[in-house]
Amino acid sequence: MIEIKKVTKRFNTKNGELLAVDNVDLSIQSGEIFGIIGYSGAGKSTLLRMLNGLEKPTEGTISVSDKLINTIKGTKLREARQEIGMIFQHFNLLWSRTVEENIAFPLEIAGVPKSQRDKRVQELIELVGLGGRGRSYPSQLSGGQKQRVGIARALANNPKVLLCDEATSALDPETTDSILDLLLNINQQLGLTVVLITHEMHVIKKICHRVAVMENGKVAELGDVIDVFENPQKEVTKRFVRQVV
Ligand code: ATP
Ligand code: MG
Repeated sequence: MIEIKKVTKRFNTKNGELLAVDNVDLSIQSGEIFGIIGYSGAGKSTLLRMLNGLEKPTEGTISVSDKLINTIKGTKLREARQEIGMIFQHFNLLWSRTVEENIAFPLEIAGVPKSQRDKRVQELIELVGLGGRGRSYPSQLSGGQKQRVGIARALANNPKVLLCDEATSALDPETTDSILDLLLNINQQLGLTVVLITHEMHVIKKICHRVAVMENGKVAELGDVIDVFENPQKEVTKRFVRQVV
């Protein structure tokens, strides 16, 4: 489903070259909930942004559903991106638009006719548990509800993959759990592949099948969540595992 092969990303900064992602190989299966954990600056967001073409790798290749994301451009890239939804820590909603209008936005861009759009928006509102809030503005919603709008919007074009960058980091523990339950439901109901970044091990424990631990741009450890919890190999992994015991 997602193949990351020998991917390196360097940024040019005024202090010289910065190695953000260092020769990463990863293969993520269709239908999997794959977690990426690591401390700040480990390269998690950079890696995730390369999966939908927001950043280009300096070296290596990335394919999603057999499309080589790192080489395609223009219309082809836009088409490929419709299969990849993304949600963010601070939701990135359009504040002057209602819930319905936020969710309709990617459908408008994709050229879906109004009547179909309205139907799809109502389905999505029900799916994420926001019935009755369609006419509200984001500022009138709680953090958890805002993230539900983010999820509905990300799912609008029926993507095969959902990328989540610290999607629960701005939420309290109970709201975090309810959003993770929603992601799990969506994964099970729609067969969506989920790639989720976090720095909280309980998030990994609650919904992920496998986890990669990133440190200094590299994958330091990779395995089934159960195995990584029971038998962490690297010091960085042990530190994360200690968060939840
Ligand atoms: P956090 O947990 O804080 O979000 P992260 O693991 O997501 O961290 P990245 O955002 O991927 O880390 O950043 C990895 C490294 O790349 C950091 O040193 C960061 O400063 C650097 N970096 C990221 N984006 C850029 C950019 N556009 N230009 C220059 N350096 C960048
Ligand atoms: Mg990040």
